[in-house]
Amino acid sequence: MGRVLIIGAGGVGNVVAHKCAMAPQIFEHICLASRTKSKCDAIAADVKAVTGRDIETAQVDADNVAETVSLIKHQKPDLLLNVALPYQDLHLMDACLETGIDYLDTANYEPIDEAKFEYSWQWAYHDRFKDAGLMALLGSGFDPGVTNVYCAYAAKHLFDAIHTVDIVDCNGGDHGKAFATNFNPEINIREITQRGRYFEDGQWHETDPLSVHQTFDFPGVGPREMYLLFHEEMESLVKHIPGIQRMRFWMTFGQEYLTHLRVLQNVGMTRIDPVMYEGREVVPIQFLKALLPDPGTLGENYEGLTCIGCVIEGVKNGEHRRVFIYNNCDHAVCWKEVKAQAVSYTTGVPAMIGAKMMMTNTWRGEGVFNMEQLDPDPFMEDLNEHGLPWQVLDWPESVK
Ligand code: NDP
Repeated sequence: MGRVLIIGAGGVGNVVAHKCAMAPQIFEHICLASRTKSKCDAIAADVKAVTGRDIETAQVDADNVAETVSLIKHQKPDLLLNVALPYQDLHLMDACLETGIDYLDTANYEPIDEAKFEYSWQWAYHDRFKDAGLMALLGSGFDPGVTNVYCAYAAKHLFDAIHTVDIVDCNGGDHGKAFATNFNPEINIREITQRGRYFEDGQWHETDPLSVHQTFDFPGVGPREMYLLFHEEMESLVKHIPGIQRMRFWMTFGQEYLTHLRVLQNVGMTRIDPVMYEGREVVPIQFLKALLPDPGTLGENYEGLTCIGCVIEGVKNGEHRRVFIYNNCDHAVCWKEVKAQAVSYTTGVPAMIGAKMMMTNTWRGEGVFNMEQLDPDPFMEDLNEHGLPWQVLDWPESVK
C-alpha cells in the first residue's frame, strides 16, 4: 500500500488515474496534478463515477522544481509517476532527488528547442539516485516499455542468444478525423519527422525521414505499410542485449496521414523555432497543436485495433528460431472501460504496472533503470491481468 503522485492530465494521465484507482490495495492514495487543474478535476470526476474512489487533484508547473518539491512535501507520495511531457523529465527527477522519492516515466527527456531524444541526460542521474537509495524507472509505456519487457522475456525464456529484433507498431484504428495524432501532437510530429536510425553490425546507420518502408501482415489488423524510424528503446536494448546484431523500429502510417504531414512540413507548420507574427513570437508546431484534435478526445468513435510487438530471431538449443510477441488492443473496448483510445491505454496501463512493481518492491534497485534490466515475469503476468494480454507466435518469415 502506498501513495502515488501522477503528474500530467492528458490522454495517458487519464488512463493511469483510472487504472491506479482500480487497484486500491496498491495505490492507497492518489493525487493527480497538472498545469491545468480543471483537466485533473474532470478526470477525477470520471474516476469517481467509474470506480467509486476519490482522488485528489492539484495544480503544478512541473518545469518549476520548487513548485513540485512543495507539492511532494504536502502530498508525501512514495512515487512520482510522470506522464506530462518529455521536457519535464529532468525537472521532475530533480524534485524526486530533493524530496527522497522514487520516479517513473514513459518517454525519455527531450530538450524543447531541439528535436532530439536520447537517454544520456537521464542515465547521467544514475549515481545520484543510487547514492540516495532511490529508484528511477525509465520508459514504462508500451514502446518504450512493454516492447523492452517482451525482449527481456524472450531473452529469459525463448532464446539462448538473440540476433535481431524488429519492433513493429501498428495503429489499425480509425478515428474518423482527416488528420490527428494519437498522443501529444508536438512530441509525435517531432519524433516522426526526424531522420531514421537503426543498429546493425555494431553501429548506428541513418536514413532519410520515412524513406525506408515495407508491408507487414499484422495479426488482427492485416497488411499495412510500415516505415523505419528511430525510437528510444533501441538505445537501451542495444546496450542490454548481449551480442545483438540488428535492431530496428517500424511504425505504420496511412497515405492520407503522410500527405497531410508532408504539406504541413512544406509550409513550415512543423517548425520548432519561434517565428515573429504580428509583433509576437509564435512556435509553429505549438500553434499547430492548438488546432489539431486533443488526442484525449479521439476515443469516442474510434474503431479498430492496435498491434504492437517484437519480431525476434536468434538461437534456442542450437536451432534457429523466430517469434512474434505482441498485443492487440481494441479502441472501442478502451473507451468503454476508461474513456480513452488505445494509444493512451497501451501507455497508461504499463505505467500503472511499472508503478505497482516499484511500490510492492517486486522491482527494486538503486539508481536509474530501463525496463529490460528487471525481471520480466511479474510484469508480463500483470499485462494479462490488467487489459493488455500478449501472444507469442512462431513467425513464418523474417522482416526484410
Ligand atoms: P498530452 O499532451 O495529452 O498530456 C500531457 C499533459 O501534461 C497535459 O495535461 C499537460 O498540461 C501536462 N503538462 C505539460 N507541461 C506541463 C508542465 N510544465 N507542468 C505540468 N503539467 C504539464 O500527452 P499524452 O497524455 O498523450 O502523453 C503523455 C506522455 O506519454 C508524453 O510524454 C508522451 O511522450 C508519452 N507517451 C509514451 C508512449 C509510450 O508508449 N512509451 C506512447 C504515447 C505517449 P495541459 O493540459 O495544461 O497542456
